[in-house]
Amino acid sequence: MKIAILPGDGIGTEIVEQAVRVLGVLDLDVETETALVGGAAYEAHGHPLPDATLQLARAADAILFGAVGDWKYDRLERALRPEQAILGLRKQLGLFANLRPALCYEQLTHSSSLKPELVAGLDILIIRELTGDIYFGQPRGRRVATDGHFPGAEEAFDTMRYSKPEIERIAHVAFQAARKRSRRVTSVDKANVLETFQFWRDVVTEVHAQYRDVELQHMYVDNAAMQLVKAPKAFDVVVTGNMFGDILSDEAAMLTGSIGMLPSASLDKDHKGLYEPSHGSAPDIAGKGVANPLATILSAAMMLRFSLNQAAAAERIESAVKAVLSSGLRTPDIWSEGTKKVGTREMGDAVVAALTGKLAGKTTTTKS
Ligand code: NAD
Repeated sequence: MKIAILPGDGIGTEIVEQAVRVLGVLDLDVETETALVGGAAYEAHGHPLPDATLQLARAADAILFGAVGDWKYDRLERALRPEQAILGLRKQLGLFANLRPALCYEQLTHSSSLKPELVAGLDILIIRELTGDIYFGQPRGRRVATDGHFPGAEEAFDTMRYSKPEIERIAHVAFQAARKRSRRVTSVDKANVLETFQFWRDVVTEVHAQYRDVELQHMYVDNAAMQLVKAPKAFDVVVTGNMFGDILSDEAAMLTGSIGMLPSASLDKDHKGLYEPSHGSAPDIAGKGVANPLATILSAAMMLRFSLNQAAAAERIESAVKAVLSSGLRTPDIWSEGTKKVGTREMGDAVVAALTGKLAGKTTTTKS
């Protein structure tokens, strides 16, 4: 088995380093190869997704990805911006299904901005379509308007579109995932306003005919955004398009305490996948050694489960993370009174220690 390691930019390098250390103590028969991606690749090779990186990603059995981006590249032409690397990998490798489990660990109930009773025991799965929608639709660009409210004015435009097979395949992923959980799917759309999402609703309903044992509910995205903070535990599997999924999964992340806790898997039709934390490169904290590496470590666990057929090793990582949280160690984003604040590397050390049976007992220090 070969894993391509693509740390990227900002905190990407810091958090991926910890996940690689964790994989290293699991005694797995895996080979890893690291390559530049994003801004780091642009600096070295003039392109955020160099051919060599794309070839490595294609050849590997799975990809562990950090994050890309930095505000300093905001003025680059779009094709050269770091974010194009992740969009390019998703498109080139056909990674159409993005799975984002939002799980509120018992130990972090008080780190959520919602009342503990609303999030205690939260376990939802957001499935975001990843290679279609307005993020990839053509045509797009800038032009001089010939109609609309201000003919003759400069305007920008994008195209929202979904084909039937694109909706069908993500609906199948959602219904099949629901069968392994509570058998409930909420499909989120904007069918009341957008033609694309009326079509989405029609196709999801059609696919549902093959999954009569699964309950299907349709919900408008504005209502879903509200329900997610009002009664998040009412959801089980949420399936939605690329843009709505992008926004709702960040919202769901905060229910769990911090975006630094949220892993993700982006899978192709054969379950080859790219695994990355749900957050970005966090330039505001990059280089300070304070980023939470747990979302990346948990993404590595998802990688072992979904792409490398190593469910037992995945469970070991997940148990180690719970043990570390129970021991009271916290990076600043999940810190609360009575727990001990640690940095990125110490958090990685603790997960490694938990896996090797060397984790010390409960460490609670009040002030930090
Ligand atoms: P972000 O997710 O990087 O950061 C949002 C906030 O969350 C920041 O305050 C950050 O400090 C905090 N945060 C994020 N991850 C954290 C972690 N592991 N531990 C502790 N705190 C964490 O989003 P942003 O600031 O909007 O974007 C920054 C850059 O990342 C941009 O260039 C953006 O395009 C890029 N981005 C990349 C990806 C990706 O690589 N898949 C995803 C989203 C954003």
